[in-house]
Amino acid sequence: MLDSIRTRLTLWHTGVLALVIAVLCGVAYFIFWRSAVRRTDLNLVELSDSFLVTFRAELEDQTGPDVFQTAAKEAIEEHHFGDTIYVLVDQAGKVILSSQETPSANPSGKKRRKPILSSASFQNFLAASMNSDRQFGHIAVTEAGYRAFSQRFSAKGQSYRLILLQSLHPQEQMMEEAGAVFAWLIPLAILLASGGGYFLARKSLAPVVAMSSQAGRIGAENLHERLAIQNEKDELGHLARSFNGLLNRLRESFDRQRRFMADASHELRTPIAILRGESEVALSQQVRSPAEYRESLNVMHHEAERLTRIVEDLFTLTRADAGQYPLQPNDFYLDELVSECVHSARTLAQAKKISLTFDGAPESPIHADESLVRRMILNLLDNAIKYTLDFGRVTVSCRRNGREYTVSIADTGTGIPPELRPRIFERFFRADKARSHSENDGGGAGLGLAISRWIAEAHRGRLELTRSDCSGSTFSAYLPADSAELVSPG
Ligand code: ADP
Repeated sequence: MLDSIRTRLTLWHTGVLALVIAVLCGVAYFIFWRSAVRRTDLNLVELSDSFLVTFRAELEDQTGPDVFQTAAKEAIEEHHFGDTIYVLVDQAGKVILSSQETPSANPSGKKRRKPILSSASFQNFLAASMNSDRQFGHIAVTEAGYRAFSQRFSAKGQSYRLILLQSLHPQEQMMEEAGAVFAWLIPLAILLASGGGYFLARKSLAPVVAMSSQAGRIGAENLHERLAIQNEKDELGHLARSFNGLLNRLRESFDRQRRFMADASHELRTPIAILRGESEVALSQQVRSPAEYRESLNVMHHEAERLTRIVEDLFTLTRADAGQYPLQPNDFYLDELVSECVHSARTLAQAKKISLTFDGAPESPIHADESLVRRMILNLLDNAIKYTLDFGRVTVSCRRNGREYTVSIADTGTGIPPELRPRIFERFFRADKARSHSENDGGGAGLGLAISRWIAEAHRGRLELTRSDCSGSTFSAYLPADSAELVSPG
Protein backbone atom coordinates (compact mmCIF):
# COMPACT_ATOMS: atom_id res chain seq x y z
CA MET A 1 0.00 0.00 0.00
CA LEU A 2 2.91 2.32 0.82
CA ASP A 3 4.24 1.65 -2.69
CA SER A 4 1.54 3.91 -4.05
CA ILE A 5 2.60 7.56 -4.48
CA ARG A 6 -1.02 8.51 -3.81
CA THR A 7 -0.97 6.93 -0.35
CA ARG A 8 2.49 8.27 0.46
CA LEU A 9 1.49 11.79 -0.59
CA THR A 10 -1.67 11.60 1.51
CA LEU A 11 0.23 10.34 4.55
CA TRP A 12 2.88 13.04 4.22
CA HIS A 13 0.24 15.70 3.70
CA THR A 14 -1.73 14.52 6.75
CA GLY A 15 1.39 14.25 8.92
CA VAL A 16 2.64 17.73 8.03
CA LEU A 17 -0.83 19.20 8.48
CA ALA A 18 -1.26 17.55 11.90
CA LEU A 19 2.10 18.91 13.00
CA VAL A 20 1.30 22.42 11.79
CA ILE A 21 -2.13 22.37 13.47
CA ALA A 22 -0.65 21.05 16.74
CA VAL A 23 2.02 23.77 16.81
CA LEU A 24 -0.51 26.47 15.90
CA CYS A 25 -2.92 25.31 18.61
CA GLY A 26 -0.12 25.26 21.19
CA VAL A 27 0.93 28.80 20.25
CA ALA A 28 -2.69 30.05 20.20
CA TYR A 29 -3.35 28.43 23.60
CA PHE A 30 -0.29 30.11 25.09
CA ILE A 31 -1.19 33.54 23.59
CA PHE A 32 -4.79 33.35 24.85
CA TRP A 33 -3.62 32.39 28.33
CA ARG A 34 -1.11 35.24 28.41
CA SER A 35 -3.72 37.79 27.32
CA ALA A 36 -6.23 36.48 29.90
CA VAL A 37 -3.60 36.92 32.64
CA ARG A 38 -2.76 40.40 31.34
CA ARG A 39 -6.44 41.41 31.42
CA THR A 40 -6.66 40.07 34.99
CA ASP A 41 -3.61 42.17 35.95
CA LEU A 42 -5.20 45.33 34.53
CA ASN A 43 -8.40 44.56 36.37
CA LEU A 44 -6.48 44.07 39.62
CA VAL A 45 -4.70 47.43 39.25
CA GLU A 46 -8.00 49.21 38.61
CA LEU A 47 -9.68 47.51 41.56
CA SER A 48 -6.74 48.28 43.79
CA ASP A 49 -6.74 51.98 42.86
CA SER A 50 -10.49 52.45 43.29
CA PHE A 51 -10.38 50.53 46.60
CA LEU A 52 -7.73 52.90 47.92
CA VAL A 53 -9.79 55.96 46.88
CA THR A 54 -12.83 54.62 48.79
CA PHE A 55 -10.72 53.48 51.71
CA ARG A 56 -9.11 56.94 52.12
CA ALA A 57 -12.52 58.62 51.93
CA GLU A 58 -13.92 56.22 54.56
CA LEU A 59 -10.89 56.91 56.76
CA GLU A 60 -11.67 60.62 56.66
CA ASP A 61 -15.34 60.01 57.54
CA GLN A 62 -14.84 57.49 60.32
CA THR A 63 -14.13 58.30 63.96
CA GLY A 64 -13.43 56.04 66.88
CA PRO A 65 -10.73 53.59 67.99
CA ASP A 66 -11.08 50.97 65.19
CA VAL A 67 -11.21 53.57 62.46
CA PHE A 68 -8.70 51.78 60.21
CA GLN A 69 -10.50 48.42 60.41
CA THR A 70 -13.93 49.98 59.92
CA ALA A 71 -12.86 52.01 56.89
CA ALA A 72 -11.22 48.97 55.35
CA LYS A 73 -14.31 46.81 55.91
CA GLU A 74 -16.51 49.50 54.36
CA ALA A 75 -14.28 49.75 51.32
CA ILE A 76 -14.18 45.95 50.98
CA GLU A 77 -17.98 45.83 51.20
CA GLU A 78 -18.22 48.38 48.47
CA HIS A 79 -15.67 46.92 46.07
CA HIS A 80 -15.98 43.28 46.70
CA PHE A 81 -17.23 41.13 43.85
CA GLY A 82 -16.50 37.81 42.36
CA ASP A 83 -13.59 35.88 43.65
CA THR A 84 -11.44 38.90 44.46
CA ILE A 85 -9.77 38.74 47.85
CA TYR A 86 -8.52 41.93 49.55
CA VAL A 87 -5.72 41.66 52.07
CA LEU A 88 -4.31 44.54 54.12
CA VAL A 89 -0.84 44.03 55.47
CA ASP A 90 1.12 46.28 57.83
CA GLN A 91 4.73 47.38 57.47
CA ALA A 92 6.00 44.25 59.20
CA GLY A 93 4.16 42.00 56.76
CA LYS A 94 1.44 41.02 59.22
CA VAL A 95 -2.07 40.57 57.80
CA ILE A 96 -4.33 43.20 59.41
CA LEU A 97 -7.51 42.42 57.54
CA SER A 98 -8.52 40.05 54.78
CA SER A 99 -11.79 39.77 52.90
CA GLN A 100 -11.44 36.02 52.97
CA GLU A 101 -12.05 36.11 56.71
CA THR A 102 -14.78 38.71 56.30
CA PRO A 103 -18.17 36.91 56.36
CA SER A 104 -19.75 39.37 53.94
CA ALA A 105 -16.99 38.65 51.45
CA ASN A 106 -18.46 35.20 50.91
CA PRO A 107 -22.19 35.75 50.99
CA SER A 108 -23.25 32.26 49.92
CA GLY A 109 -21.15 30.74 52.67
CA LYS A 110 -21.69 27.34 51.14
CA LYS A 111 -18.22 26.75 49.78
CA ARG A 112 -15.34 26.76 52.18
CA ARG A 113 -12.43 28.56 50.69
CA LYS A 114 -9.00 27.07 50.70
CA PRO A 115 -6.74 28.72 53.28
CA ILE A 116 -4.90 30.93 50.82
CA LEU A 117 -3.28 33.35 53.25
CA SER A 118 -1.54 30.65 55.23
CA SER A 119 -0.25 28.89 52.12
CA ALA A 120 3.48 28.86 51.49
CA SER A 121 2.91 30.30 48.02
CA PHE A 122 1.16 33.39 49.47
CA GLN A 123 3.82 33.81 52.15
CA ASN A 124 6.52 33.72 49.49
CA PHE A 125 4.70 36.35 47.42
CA LEU A 126 4.25 38.50 50.54
CA ALA A 127 7.92 38.31 51.37
CA ALA A 128 8.92 39.11 47.81
CA SER A 129 6.51 42.07 47.52
CA MET A 130 7.74 43.78 50.72
CA ASN A 131 10.63 45.37 48.83
CA SER A 132 8.71 46.90 45.92
CA ASP A 133 5.87 49.41 45.58
CA ARG A 134 3.93 47.28 43.12
CA GLN A 135 4.27 43.63 42.40
CA PHE A 136 2.42 40.96 40.45
CA GLY A 137 2.63 37.29 41.27
CA HIS A 138 1.00 33.88 41.12
CA ILE A 139 -0.40 32.04 44.13
CA ALA A 140 -0.57 28.32 43.43
CA VAL A 141 -3.13 27.02 45.88
CA THR A 142 -5.76 25.63 43.54
CA GLU A 143 -5.32 24.00 40.16
CA ALA A 144 -5.70 27.29 38.31
CA GLY A 145 -4.27 29.35 41.15
CA TYR A 146 -4.70 33.05 41.93
CA ARG A 147 -3.27 36.12 40.30
CA ALA A 148 -1.87 38.46 42.99
CA PHE A 149 -1.19 42.19 42.94
CA SER A 150 0.47 44.02 45.79
CA GLN A 151 0.55 47.82 46.16
CA ARG A 152 2.16 49.91 48.90
CA PHE A 153 0.13 52.83 50.31
CA SER A 154 0.24 55.07 53.37
CA ALA A 155 -2.49 56.16 55.68
CA LYS A 156 -2.32 58.23 58.84
CA GLY A 157 1.44 58.43 58.56
CA GLN A 158 1.88 54.63 58.39
CA SER A 159 2.94 52.49 55.42
CA TYR A 160 0.66 49.60 54.50
CA ARG A 161 0.29 47.15 51.66
CA LEU A 162 -2.87 46.21 49.83
CA ILE A 163 -2.84 42.79 48.21
CA LEU A 164 -5.52 41.73 45.76
CA LEU A 165 -6.00 38.11 44.77
CA GLN A 166 -8.15 37.02 41.89
CA SER A 167 -8.87 33.44 41.00
CA LEU A 168 -7.80 32.31 37.53
CA HIS A 169 -10.41 29.58 37.60
CA PRO A 170 -12.77 31.23 35.05
CA GLN A 171 -9.89 31.79 32.64
CA GLU A 172 -8.77 28.23 33.06
CA GLN A 173 -12.30 27.01 32.49
CA MET A 174 -12.47 29.06 29.31
CA MET A 175 -9.19 27.56 28.12
CA GLU A 176 -10.43 24.08 29.00
CA GLU A 177 -13.55 24.66 26.95
CA ALA A 178 -11.44 25.90 24.05
CA GLY A 179 -9.24 22.80 24.49
CA ALA A 180 -12.31 20.55 24.39
CA VAL A 181 -13.44 22.20 21.14
CA PHE A 182 -9.94 21.78 19.69
CA ALA A 183 -9.98 18.13 20.75
CA TRP A 184 -12.71 17.23 18.27
CA LEU A 185 -12.16 20.04 15.78
CA ILE A 186 -8.52 19.16 15.06
CA PRO A 187 -9.05 15.44 14.28
CA LEU A 188 -12.05 16.38 12.15
CA ALA A 189 -9.96 18.97 10.25
CA ILE A 190 -7.15 16.44 9.77
CA LEU A 191 -9.61 13.81 8.59
CA LEU A 192 -11.19 16.18 6.08
CA ALA A 193 -7.79 17.45 4.93
CA SER A 194 -6.42 13.94 4.44
CA GLY A 195 -9.56 12.99 2.48
CA GLY A 196 -9.07 16.10 0.36
CA GLY A 197 -5.36 15.31 0.03
CA TYR A 198 -6.11 11.79 -1.17
CA PHE A 199 -8.62 13.12 -3.67
CA LEU A 200 -6.17 15.74 -4.95
CA ALA A 201 -3.31 13.22 -5.19
CA ARG A 202 -5.59 10.85 -7.07
CA LYS A 203 -6.74 13.57 -9.41
CA SER A 204 -3.27 14.92 -10.13
CA LEU A 205 -1.76 11.47 -10.62
CA ALA A 206 -4.57 10.28 -12.87
CA PRO A 207 -2.83 11.64 -16.02
CA VAL A 208 0.34 9.76 -15.00
CA VAL A 209 -1.63 6.53 -14.70
CA ALA A 210 -3.24 7.21 -18.08
CA MET A 211 0.15 8.04 -19.61
CA SER A 212 1.76 4.87 -18.28
CA SER A 213 -1.00 2.65 -19.64
CA GLN A 214 -0.79 4.47 -22.98
CA ALA A 215 3.00 4.08 -22.99
CA GLY A 216 2.60 0.38 -22.12
CA ARG A 217 0.60 -0.13 -25.33
CA ILE A 218 3.27 1.42 -27.57
CA GLY A 219 5.54 -1.13 -29.22
CA ALA A 220 7.68 -1.51 -32.34
CA GLU A 221 4.60 -2.03 -34.52
CA ASN A 222 2.83 1.19 -33.40
CA LEU A 223 5.83 3.39 -32.71
CA HIS A 224 4.06 6.27 -34.49
CA GLU A 225 1.55 6.63 -31.61
CA ARG A 226 2.14 9.46 -29.13
CA LEU A 227 1.02 10.23 -25.59
CA ALA A 228 -1.86 12.69 -25.31
CA ILE A 229 -0.78 16.02 -23.79
CA GLN A 230 -3.49 17.66 -21.71
CA ASN A 231 -1.61 20.78 -20.69
CA GLU A 232 1.60 21.60 -22.56
CA LYS A 233 2.84 23.93 -19.82
CA ASP A 234 2.54 21.86 -16.66
CA GLU A 235 5.03 19.27 -15.39
CA LEU A 236 3.07 16.32 -16.76
CA GLY A 237 2.81 18.02 -20.13
CA HIS A 238 6.58 18.41 -20.01
CA LEU A 239 6.99 14.73 -19.13
CA ALA A 240 4.67 13.68 -21.96
CA ARG A 241 6.57 15.95 -24.37
CA SER A 242 9.91 14.43 -23.30
CA PHE A 243 8.47 10.94 -23.69
CA ASN A 244 7.09 11.78 -27.13
CA GLY A 245 10.51 13.21 -28.04
CA LEU A 246 12.07 9.92 -26.97
CA LEU A 247 9.55 8.03 -29.13
CA ASN A 248 10.43 10.30 -32.07
CA ARG A 249 14.12 9.56 -31.64
CA LEU A 250 13.39 5.85 -31.25
CA ARG A 251 11.27 5.85 -34.36
CA GLU A 252 13.95 7.67 -36.34
CA SER A 253 16.54 5.20 -35.12
CA PHE A 254 14.20 2.31 -35.97
CA ASP A 255 13.64 3.73 -39.44
CA ARG A 256 17.39 4.21 -39.89
CA GLN A 257 17.98 0.62 -38.83
CA ARG A 258 15.27 -0.63 -41.20
CA ARG A 259 16.73 1.41 -44.05
CA PHE A 260 20.18 0.13 -43.19
CA MET A 261 18.98 -3.46 -43.23
CA ALA A 262 17.13 -2.97 -46.53
CA ASP A 263 20.12 -1.23 -48.14
CA ALA A 264 22.52 -3.83 -46.79
CA SER A 265 20.50 -6.74 -48.11
CA HIS A 266 20.11 -4.96 -51.42
CA GLU A 267 23.88 -4.45 -51.69
CA LEU A 268 24.55 -8.06 -50.75
CA ARG A 269 22.00 -9.36 -53.21
CA THR A 270 23.85 -8.13 -56.33
CA PRO A 271 27.18 -9.97 -55.84
CA ILE A 272 25.36 -13.05 -54.61
CA ALA A 273 23.15 -13.02 -57.70
CA ILE A 274 26.22 -12.66 -59.93
CA LEU A 275 27.97 -15.50 -58.09
CA ARG A 276 24.92 -17.73 -58.44
CA GLY A 277 24.34 -16.85 -62.07
CA GLU A 278 27.96 -17.36 -63.01
CA SER A 279 28.19 -20.73 -61.23
CA GLU A 280 24.86 -21.89 -62.74
CA VAL A 281 26.04 -21.01 -66.25
CA ALA A 282 29.39 -22.79 -65.65
CA LEU A 283 27.65 -25.91 -64.30
CA SER A 284 24.97 -26.03 -66.98
CA GLN A 285 27.44 -26.19 -69.87
CA GLN A 286 28.71 -29.74 -70.43
CA VAL A 287 31.75 -28.78 -72.41
CA ARG A 288 33.74 -25.65 -71.58
CA SER A 289 37.23 -24.59 -72.43
CA PRO A 290 39.73 -23.92 -69.59
CA ALA A 291 39.77 -20.25 -70.63
CA GLU A 292 36.00 -20.05 -70.14
CA TYR A 293 36.28 -21.71 -66.71
CA ARG A 294 39.05 -19.28 -65.78
CA GLU A 295 36.88 -16.37 -66.89
CA SER A 296 33.96 -17.57 -64.74
CA LEU A 297 36.22 -18.14 -61.76
CA ASN A 298 37.65 -14.66 -62.21
CA VAL A 299 34.18 -13.10 -62.11
CA MET A 300 33.28 -15.17 -59.05
CA HIS A 301 36.52 -14.26 -57.30
CA HIS A 302 35.92 -10.59 -57.99
CA GLU A 303 32.37 -10.75 -56.63
CA ALA A 304 33.50 -12.73 -53.59
CA GLU A 305 36.07 -10.01 -52.85
CA ARG A 306 33.39 -7.35 -53.19
CA LEU A 307 31.10 -9.32 -50.94
CA THR A 308 33.87 -9.60 -48.34
CA ARG A 309 34.49 -5.85 -48.49
CA ILE A 310 30.81 -5.00 -48.05
CA VAL A 311 30.42 -7.44 -45.14
CA GLU A 312 33.55 -6.02 -43.47
CA ASP A 313 32.28 -2.45 -43.91
CA LEU A 314 28.87 -3.38 -42.54
CA PHE A 315 30.47 -5.08 -39.58
CA THR A 316 32.63 -2.01 -38.89
CA LEU A 317 29.63 0.34 -38.99
CA THR A 318 27.47 -1.90 -36.81
CA ARG A 319 30.19 -2.12 -34.18
CA ALA A 320 30.79 1.63 -34.40
CA ASP A 321 27.06 2.28 -33.90
CA ALA A 322 27.01 0.07 -30.83
CA GLY A 323 30.12 1.85 -29.49
CA GLN A 324 31.90 -1.48 -29.59
CA TYR A 325 34.73 -0.70 -31.95
CA PRO A 326 37.72 -0.50 -29.64
CA LEU A 327 40.32 1.99 -30.86
CA GLN A 328 43.90 0.81 -30.53
CA PRO A 329 45.90 4.01 -30.58
CA ASN A 330 49.68 4.06 -30.85
CA ASP A 331 52.35 6.65 -31.67
CA PHE A 332 53.42 7.00 -35.30
CA TYR A 333 54.23 9.65 -37.92
CA LEU A 334 51.22 10.71 -39.91
CA ASP A 335 53.28 11.93 -42.88
CA GLU A 336 54.90 8.50 -43.14
CA LEU A 337 51.52 6.74 -43.03
CA VAL A 338 50.07 9.03 -45.73
CA SER A 339 53.19 8.48 -47.85
CA GLU A 340 52.77 4.68 -47.52
CA CYS A 341 49.11 4.94 -48.58
CA VAL A 342 50.07 7.07 -51.60
CA HIS A 343 52.67 4.45 -52.47
CA SER A 344 50.16 1.60 -52.36
CA ALA A 345 47.65 3.56 -54.46
CA ARG A 346 50.25 4.28 -57.11
CA THR A 347 49.46 1.09 -59.10
CA LEU A 348 45.76 2.07 -59.26
CA ALA A 349 46.68 5.57 -60.41
CA GLN A 350 49.13 4.31 -63.00
CA ALA A 351 46.45 2.05 -64.48
CA LYS A 352 44.48 5.24 -65.30
CA LYS A 353 47.59 7.30 -66.15
CA ILE A 354 46.75 9.59 -63.24
CA SER A 355 49.60 11.59 -61.72
CA LEU A 356 49.66 11.03 -57.96
CA THR A 357 51.79 13.40 -55.87
CA PHE A 358 52.34 13.73 -52.16
CA ASP A 359 53.48 16.82 -50.30
CA GLY A 360 53.85 16.18 -46.58
CA ALA A 361 55.44 18.13 -43.71
CA PRO A 362 58.10 15.85 -42.22
CA GLU A 363 57.98 14.71 -38.59
CA SER A 364 54.24 14.72 -37.91
CA PRO A 365 53.91 12.59 -34.79
CA ILE A 366 50.41 11.52 -33.85
CA HIS A 367 48.72 9.25 -31.30
CA ALA A 368 45.93 7.42 -33.13
CA ASP A 369 44.64 4.07 -34.32
CA GLU A 370 47.05 3.52 -37.20
CA SER A 371 45.05 0.90 -39.07
CA LEU A 372 41.83 3.00 -38.95
CA VAL A 373 43.61 6.17 -40.12
CA ARG A 374 45.21 4.11 -42.92
CA ARG A 375 41.77 2.80 -43.89
CA MET A 376 40.36 6.35 -44.01
CA ILE A 377 43.20 7.69 -46.22
CA LEU A 378 43.05 4.68 -48.53
CA ASN A 379 39.26 5.14 -48.89
CA LEU A 380 39.74 8.80 -49.84
CA LEU A 381 42.59 7.99 -52.22
CA ASP A 382 40.60 5.16 -53.75
CA ASN A 383 37.65 7.52 -54.36
CA ALA A 384 39.88 10.27 -55.75
CA ILE A 385 41.39 7.86 -58.32
CA LYS A 386 38.06 6.14 -58.99
CA TYR A 387 36.20 9.39 -59.74
CA THR A 388 39.02 11.03 -61.75
CA LEU A 389 39.19 10.49 -65.48
CA ASP A 390 42.29 9.05 -67.18
CA PHE A 391 45.30 11.38 -67.33
CA GLY A 392 43.97 13.35 -64.40
CA ARG A 393 45.80 14.45 -61.24
CA VAL A 394 45.50 13.55 -57.55
CA THR A 395 47.42 15.63 -55.01
CA VAL A 396 47.81 14.56 -51.40
CA SER A 397 49.12 16.84 -48.66
CA CYS A 398 49.67 16.54 -44.92
CA ARG A 399 50.08 19.78 -42.90
CA ARG A 400 49.98 20.84 -39.31
CA ASN A 401 47.73 23.82 -38.47
CA GLY A 402 48.07 24.72 -34.82
CA ARG A 403 46.81 21.79 -32.78
CA GLU A 404 45.57 19.66 -35.68
CA TYR A 405 46.80 17.93 -38.81
CA THR A 406 45.04 18.37 -42.11
CA VAL A 407 45.30 15.60 -44.66
CA SER A 408 43.90 16.82 -47.99
CA ILE A 409 43.25 14.70 -51.06
CA ALA A 410 42.49 16.81 -54.11
CA ASP A 411 41.58 15.39 -57.49
CA THR A 412 40.75 16.70 -60.94
CA GLY A 413 37.65 14.52 -61.21
CA THR A 414 34.17 15.47 -62.32
CA GLY A 415 33.19 16.82 -58.93
CA ILE A 416 29.96 16.20 -57.02
CA PRO A 417 26.75 18.04 -57.98
CA PRO A 418 25.86 20.66 -55.29
CA GLU A 419 22.51 19.06 -54.46
CA LEU A 420 24.21 15.72 -53.69
CA ARG A 421 27.09 17.08 -51.60
CA PRO A 422 25.22 17.04 -48.26
CA ARG A 423 24.36 13.36 -48.79
CA ILE A 424 27.67 11.83 -49.78
CA PHE A 425 28.54 10.87 -46.18
CA GLU A 426 25.27 8.95 -45.79
CA ARG A 427 25.43 5.19 -45.70
CA PHE A 428 24.86 3.44 -49.05
CA PHE A 429 24.71 6.77 -50.84
CA ARG A 430 26.25 6.81 -54.32
CA ALA A 431 26.01 9.80 -56.59
CA ASP A 432 26.43 7.66 -59.66
CA LYS A 433 25.25 4.14 -58.92
CA ALA A 434 25.95 2.74 -62.38
CA ARG A 435 29.57 3.86 -62.27
CA SER A 436 30.14 2.69 -58.72
CA HIS A 437 28.90 -0.73 -59.62
CA SER A 438 31.00 -1.11 -62.70
CA GLU A 439 33.44 -3.89 -62.45
CA ASN A 440 36.49 -1.82 -63.34
CA ASP A 441 36.39 0.62 -60.42
CA GLY A 442 36.10 -1.74 -57.49
CA GLY A 443 32.30 -1.50 -57.08
CA GLY A 444 31.78 0.48 -53.86
CA ALA A 445 28.63 0.06 -51.81
CA GLY A 446 28.50 3.70 -50.72
CA LEU A 447 29.91 2.96 -47.26
CA GLY A 448 33.46 4.28 -47.71
CA LEU A 449 32.83 7.92 -46.79
CA ALA A 450 30.48 6.98 -43.89
CA ILE A 451 33.23 4.80 -42.39
CA SER A 452 35.90 7.44 -43.08
CA ARG A 453 33.87 10.14 -41.34
CA TRP A 454 33.29 7.85 -38.36
CA ILE A 455 37.08 7.18 -38.18
CA ALA A 456 37.82 10.94 -38.12
CA GLU A 457 35.18 11.56 -35.44
CA ALA A 458 36.36 8.62 -33.35
CA HIS A 459 39.70 10.47 -33.20
CA ARG A 460 37.95 13.71 -32.16
CA GLY A 461 38.52 15.03 -35.64
CA ARG A 462 36.32 15.57 -38.70
CA LEU A 463 36.15 14.79 -42.39
CA GLU A 464 34.82 17.38 -44.81
CA LEU A 465 34.36 17.92 -48.51
CA THR A 466 36.21 21.24 -48.74
CA ARG A 467 35.94 21.76 -52.49
CA SER A 468 33.94 20.30 -55.31
CA ASP A 469 33.31 21.82 -58.69
CA CYS A 470 33.86 20.98 -62.34
CA SER A 471 37.64 21.07 -61.76
CA GLY A 472 37.46 18.29 -59.16
CA SER A 473 36.98 17.70 -55.43
CA THR A 474 39.05 18.01 -52.25
CA PHE A 475 38.36 15.96 -49.13
CA SER A 476 40.10 17.13 -45.94
CA ALA A 477 40.53 15.07 -42.79
CA TYR A 478 41.34 17.05 -39.61
CA LEU A 479 42.96 15.07 -36.82
CA PRO A 480 44.06 16.43 -33.43
CA ALA A 481 47.82 16.55 -33.06
CA ASP A 482 47.89 16.18 -29.28
CA SER A 483 47.54 12.70 -27.89
CA ALA A 484 44.24 13.24 -26.05
CA GLU A 485 42.33 10.24 -24.76
CA LEU A 486 40.39 8.74 -27.66
CA VAL A 487 36.82 7.59 -27.42
CA SER A 488 34.54 5.98 -29.89
CA PRO A 489 31.60 8.33 -30.60
CA GLY A 490 29.46 5.25 -31.23
P1 ADP B 1 31.61 4.46 -52.96
O1 ADP B 1 31.92 3.12 -52.46
O2 ADP B 1 30.44 4.51 -53.86
O3 ADP B 1 32.77 5.19 -53.44
P2 ADP B 1 31.70 6.36 -50.83
O4 ADP B 1 30.98 6.44 -49.57
O5 ADP B 1 33.18 6.28 -50.76
O6 ADP B 1 31.07 5.20 -51.63
O7 ADP B 1 31.32 7.64 -51.67
C1 ADP B 1 29.99 8.02 -51.77
C2 ADP B 1 29.73 8.76 -53.07
O8 ADP B 1 30.39 10.02 -53.04
C3 ADP B 1 30.31 8.08 -54.27
O9 ADP B 1 29.39 7.15 -54.80
C4 ADP B 1 30.56 9.21 -55.21
O10 ADP B 1 29.41 9.51 -55.93
C5 ADP B 1 30.86 10.38 -54.32
N1 ADP B 1 32.32 10.63 -54.20
C6 ADP B 1 33.16 10.24 -53.24
N2 ADP B 1 34.41 10.66 -53.46
C7 ADP B 1 34.36 11.37 -54.60
C8 ADP B 1 35.33 12.09 -55.38
N3 ADP B 1 36.61 12.17 -55.01
N4 ADP B 1 34.93 12.70 -56.53
C9 ADP B 1 33.65 12.63 -56.92
N5 ADP B 1 32.66 11.98 -56.23
C10 ADP B 1 33.03 11.34 -55.11
